Amino acid sequence: MQTADLLVHDAELIATVDDARREIAGGWVAVTDGVVTALGGPGDPAPDALRRVDARGCLVTPGLVNTHHHLYQNLTRAYAPALTGGLFDWLVTLYPLWARLDEEAAYVSAYVGLAELATSGCTTSTDHSYVHPRGAGDLISAEVAAARELGVRFHPTRGSMSLSVKDGGLPPDSVVQDDDEILGDSSRLVRLHHDPSPTAMTRIALAPCSPFSVSTSLMARTAELAESLDVRLHTHLAETQDEDAFCLQTFGRRPVDYLADVGWMTDRTWLAHVVWPSPTEVGRLGAAGVGAAHCPSSNMILGSGLAPVAELRAAGAPVGLGVDGSASADSASLWLEARTAMLQGKLRHGAAAMSARDALEIATRGGAACLGRSGEIGQLSVGACGDLAVWSLEGARFAGALSDPVEAWLRCGPVSARETVVAGRLVVADGAVTHPGLDEQLAVHRRVSQRMQAALD
Ligand SMILES: [Zn+2]
Repeated sequence: MQTADLLVHDAELIATVDDARREIAGGWVAVTDGVVTALGGPGDPAPDALRRVDARGCLVTPGLVNTHHHLYQNLTRAYAPALTGGLFDWLVTLYPLWARLDEEAAYVSAYVGLAELATSGCTTSTDHSYVHPRGAGDLISAEVAAARELGVRFHPTRGSMSLSVKDGGLPPDSVVQDDDEILGDSSRLVRLHHDPSPTAMTRIALAPCSPFSVSTSLMARTAELAESLDVRLHTHLAETQDEDAFCLQTFGRRPVDYLADVGWMTDRTWLAHVVWPSPTEVGRLGAAGVGAAHCPSSNMILGSGLAPVAELRAAGAPVGLGVDGSASADSASLWLEARTAMLQGKLRHGAAAMSARDALEIATRGGAACLGRSGEIGQLSVGACGDLAVWSLEGARFAGALSDPVEAWLRCGPVSARETVVAGRLVVADGAVTHPGLDEQLAVHRRVSQRMQAALD
């Protein structure tokens, strides 16, 4: 048997979340050349390995997948002047600060944000970078550099805003761009960074910010460009009731009708939030295979509402989890989002409606489906990417939780991952980020964040 690069062995339980949803007590998983090459139980012979991780007393899951984020927002976390209003007030308060973004800010916010996510078991994250101030430089390439430095799988989206205050939108003039500039830069970034291969570390998607910040023509032309480049589409949709009112007033349509008008009702699309679709619209989204990034903490903090997660899943829509930007949901733990999604599911439909396994499924396979990567990530099976998280179920927090390691994982806690592995490499070991640059980047982050939050002149 070939020597593996990594062997995680003697797990209390491996929850593979594979097609058969196999769970292996006392199991092991081997990763070689970045992919899972074998897994088995205590009776199956495990290969030798260059590196071994003893997972006794631990649950092993696929790496969690984050389907919605705005990494740059960790520079304005819990920003006091923006804490009182709903989504629209919150945005209007923060846009002038975000207008100070530059490449250094993009790099350091991505580095710190992705490191933070990795400690919560996240191995693949998307990012929705939609604020591109004039003269700010190549913010997305700066983020890609940070992700490569850390060794995490990264799907940044080329976000955009084209309607400023003078056009009836919310953002200031300095952070919007015209359609041709946005589409040209989108093509450039796809050519530069997008890897369509099954083990890709970097993929790009196209992501106008929301119906209330871009023109109808940009929405339609972005869908055409995504089709021609064969990349995915992402935007915010149906987040608040204010947005319903805005779309009715501006377009004479509800958000989902508007989405259909601009050519976005396709399985190439995944949407952030999706809190307020009507039952008929849920059915239409499901039938079209449009994915939803469920962001439970953000939806609570901004008072947006309880998303119809069970209904979307029943309708056939892929549902993943998103921590959302670190200025609304100021914590960015995917474990916490999984737990909160479980609690919201119970609150909405009764205690039996959503289990820890349902939440794990959304956090892994569901996220993979949103990103168009079913079978590649979000599950532990031979040939899938070697991305996994090792969760210690020991200590006072788990004392007495003996009967079901998966339920214990989300109902007890709070926890961080003990190890987070991406493509067979330990990004987090013994609970700490393995890359040596974190302390230095935290100091840079503090300086950049202070500059951004300084009073506006
Ligand atoms: Zn968002």
